[in-house]
Amino acid sequence: MRYSLKLSFCLIFTFTLLLTSTLLAEINTDNKINFSSPSFIKNIIHEITGDDTIAFLGFNPQVEVIDSNLINAFAYGDKTVILTSALLKKIENKDELAFVIAHEVAHLSLNHGASPLQDAYVEHFSHELEADKFAIDLLKESNFKGIKSISFLSKLQKNIGTSEPKSTITNLEVRKAHIFHMFQ
Ligand SMILES: [Zn+2]
Repeated sequence: MRYSLKLSFCLIFTFTLLLTSTLLAEINTDNKINFSSPSFIKNIIHEITGDDTIAFLGFNPQVEVIDSNLINAFAYGDKTVILTSALLKKIENKDELAFVIAHEVAHLSLNHGASPLQDAYVEHFSHELEADKFAIDLLKESNFKGIKSISFLSKLQKNIGTSEPKSTITNLEVRKAHIFHMFQ
């Protein structure tokens, strides 16, 4: 059993997310589809894994949404994926949501949170690439268009605040190229 707090900061590298933020069941968006709806998210997971998620992944991921202005998603504990409300506002279709969830599920499946960070930057970024590969492989087995993750990451790049380190932009460029390569 692993009890230690395990966080994988993923889409952008930020360490300021407040875990004490209120958990939201629903978030109003301008989109017709409510991407934060628990049932909608659950359906996305089933579309990725098939109906028997535990048989497919070995665990049943829980997805929670927290109210935060920071665009981010991360894996938490052994089976929880946390998405921020700000991130969900940037998500425009099921393919983008499926990629985000698959990427975080990958961190959980690959047990990325359990290894001590010797070199936080290097190890973290290699985990990002591993999680992207795992996610794209998952999506290729489903009906989702994993290729759309590239334009989604571009969209995130445009929304990164000036307070973020430049390496965040660079890392997203590398991730996009890495994903693109998987479709060649
Ligand atoms: Zn990640």
